[in-house]
Order: sequence, then structure tokens, then C-alpha cells
Amino acid sequence: MSKLRVRYAPSPTGHLHIGGARTALFDYLLARKEGGEFIIRFEDTDQTRHLESGIGSQLDGLKWLGVDWDESVDIGGPYGPYRQTERLDLYQPFVEQLLREGSAYRCYCTEADLEQERAAQEAAGQMPMYSGRCRHLTAEQIAAFEAEGRKPSIRFRVPADQTISFVDRIREQVEFETNGIGDFIIVRPDGIPTYNFAVILDDHLMKISLVIRGEEHLTNTPRQIMMYEALGLPVPEFAHLALILNQDRKKMSKRDESIIQFIEQYRELGYLPEAVMNFIALLGWSPKGEEEIFTKEELIAQFDLDRVSKSPAVFDMDKLNWMNNQYIKKADTDRITALALPHLQQAGRLPEELTAEQQQWVRSLVGLYQEQLRYAAEIVPLSELFFREDVSYDEEAQTMLGEEHAPVVLRSFLEQVEGAAEFSVDALKGLIKSVQTATGYKGKQLFMTIRVALTGQMHGPDLNMTLFLLGRETVAARLKKLL
Ligand code: GLU
Repeated sequence: MSKLRVRYAPSPTGHLHIGGARTALFDYLLARKEGGEFIIRFEDTDQTRHLESGIGSQLDGLKWLGVDWDESVDIGGPYGPYRQTERLDLYQPFVEQLLREGSAYRCYCTEADLEQERAAQEAAGQMPMYSGRCRHLTAEQIAAFEAEGRKPSIRFRVPADQTISFVDRIREQVEFETNGIGDFIIVRPDGIPTYNFAVILDDHLMKISLVIRGEEHLTNTPRQIMMYEALGLPVPEFAHLALILNQDRKKMSKRDESIIQFIEQYRELGYLPEAVMNFIALLGWSPKGEEEIFTKEELIAQFDLDRVSKSPAVFDMDKLNWMNNQYIKKADTDRITALALPHLQQAGRLPEELTAEQQQWVRSLVGLYQEQLRYAAEIVPLSELFFREDVSYDEEAQTMLGEEHAPVVLRSFLEQVEGAAEFSVDALKGLIKSVQTATGYKGKQLFMTIRVALTGQMHGPDLNMTLFLLGRETVAARLKKLL
């Protein structure tokens, strides 16, 4: 059996999108599992601007996720070049073959001609489709068009009355009638091949054995198969991935702000790449058991196209956040601190250059919230109470602080804080214990009162650590102000 070769072939129009990332990830997992090869090439013929940054961003995004590849623009490979604009010469002999054998022909129709034809078909209640009017041009007609200076496009001659069928690895048996497909353009008047044509030649020349791509390309597949057959080339296998829907089960739109769609944004917000990879792997693929948390190695071992669903995957932002939190909880605090710190700095909470003491402090702050953080940037809203002048108390907090025991507990605590020899996490434990002994209040009346007074919140992370990180001065000042 020949070696598995899969490819990801983005048009580098912008940042790496979650849909593209999923295609690339499935390619990668399968290639690594089966000892195959994973190729990345760029379909850059349509795009004139932002090309280089688009290519860079696609590759950087994948690298960040933890995906690597065997051949592409950056590392080369035996079947390059890996961008279409550098492959144009390679397509020429195939164009000539199709023309010579009558499987393609020159079409001199102008935009206006085609528009007229479409309008007439629509008026007659027919599905608009190229009529094939240039199929049988005489040599004289061709010469006349050429004399006018018209530049032809080249169209593929779609055979009539055939059924094109193939077995898709995900969708199983798929069939299309050729009568529903008009002769389509394979080379534009400027000599640039269209997607459908270039893609089959690239896949053939790069020895791709399995094409994994989004379902939006399913209707292109019969066109591609017809061309493989006309050229006498072997047809690769196909696997079309179902759509990814948003939480409302609607087709994801790039403008939808309820979900984060670009890998770059996850990176900026301080998501962990291994969590994002884990999450994306589950967009359409379901593992055998109940477990949902997988390392890259586990994904490679378990991934299988047989368990990729035909029905759309739903992008659940809450699940992603849950999953990322699972990874953050287990991660090293230094790593999370490095991700969180820039956000605190951007918010103006901390200076650009930190003293050793500030470094230690911010590490402890991140440690305090590590259990709770869904992504690193969330440290900013979560830790707000450490950076504001005044604590704000909502109704519930005010009610609690209005109760009889509150001033007694807080006054005693202030005395302890001011009189203490040491203000450390351990010492604070002792100080609060002394408040208990002195006032007789304990449990909620003791701990929650102190927390609410200093933070405005009924609940939160470790109290002693919170107080310690606030620092003695702030604690004393807040207590005084309140009393
Ligand atoms: N450039 C196409 C896309 O980004 C590639 C389709 C294919 O994989 O054949 O959708």
C-alpha cells in the first residue's frame, strides 16, 4: 500500500481560522498516526495583497498549536514549490493535453454574453448554467474572436448523462449527475488556473493519497474527479468534514463575536495551545470512551476518520473555557504567570519592569487565581480588587457589614493587623484566630466578614493569601475607612 500523504491547502487570505486549523489538525493527527506525510501548500493565485503575512500567520498559528509538517514553503520538500503562483509552468502540459484530446476548449464569451445567457435562463425558470455555446466554434469564428483581441478562457467539457460517484471516508457513498454541471472554467483569460483545476494537479504532482477538507468543497469534488479521469490520472480518496456551527446552531460567520474564531486570538488571550488543540480535535471527532482530555500523543494514537461525524460540530465556547481551565489548573504557575503578566501590564496595573519583589508578588497573585482562571487574560478582571483605591460593596455585602457582629470583628482584626510583629500568610492565620478568641465569633461571621470588608466579595480564593497580597497597609487602610 502506498504511503499516506495528506495536505492542508489554505488560501492565505488572513489569520488561521478555527475551521482551517481543524482541517490541518486532522491531517496532522492522521499522518502521524499512520506514519504518513503532512504537506502544507498555499493557494495564492486569487490573492494579491497580504500574501506573505497570510502565509506567515497560517504557519505560526499551526506551530503555536503544536502541529508540525513534513513539506511546505518554509522547509521545502521533494514536490515543491509549495505555493501555486510558483507552479504555473507545471500546469501547462495538462492544459495542452485536455485541449488536444478535446476534453477542454477555448471559450470567447464575454462577461456580457454570459450575463445575458444567465438572465434568459432565469427568466425561463431554468437553473443558470453555461450552455456550452463555444464548444463547437469553427476555425473561422475562433480567428475572428482572436482578431478582435478577445482573450479566451479555457473550459472543461463536462460529459453528458453520467453519474459521478465516490466513496467519501466520512460521508460514504456520494453521487452527482453531470447534467447538473455546466462546462466550467479551468484557466482564466489571464492564464491563471482556477482552484478546481490547480488543486487536482497539485494533489496529483504532490502524490496526495487522501484529501481532507471542509464540506463546502463537496460540490467541487465531482468536477475534480471528471478532470482526473479525463487526464487519465488516479483519483485520491476524499474525506469531507462537516461544518462547524456556532452555539445557536447556525453556520459560523467570521463576524460572529460570540465565539473566538482565530487561533491568533486564543494565543493573545492566554489560552494554552495544548488545550486549544484538544478542543479542536473534538470538533467532529469523538473518542471511544468518556474521557475528553487528551495529550497530543494520545490524540495521535486514538484519532480515526471512522469516528469523525457526518453531522455538523457545534462550537461551544463554554466547553473550550472549561477545558482550558483544566489545563491551566495543572500547569506550572510560572508558565501561567508569564502569560498573565502582560495583560496586567497592558491594563496599567503593573509597570513594564518589575522588581524581584513584584515578580514574586504577581506569581503569588496568579497562583491565587490559578484554579479559577479560564484563560490568562482573565486575571485582569479577577484580580481587580487588588488594584483599586476603594472597595465597592453591593447590597448583600452591605447587609452583612451592617450586622451586629461586623464592627466587633473588624475592629479586633484591625488591632491585630496593626500590632502584629509579622504579616505573612502563616501569621495571618494566627491573627484571625486571635480575633476569634477575643470576640467569640467564628465561622462565617468571622471569615466572611473579614473577606467582605476587604474585598467586597462574599466568596473568593484563599483568604490568608488574599490578605497577604493586599499587604498590611492596604488592609489597615480599608478597615479604617470602613469603621
Ligand atoms: N484553498 C481551499 C480552501 O482554503 C482548499 C480546498 C481544498 O483543500 O481542496 O478552502
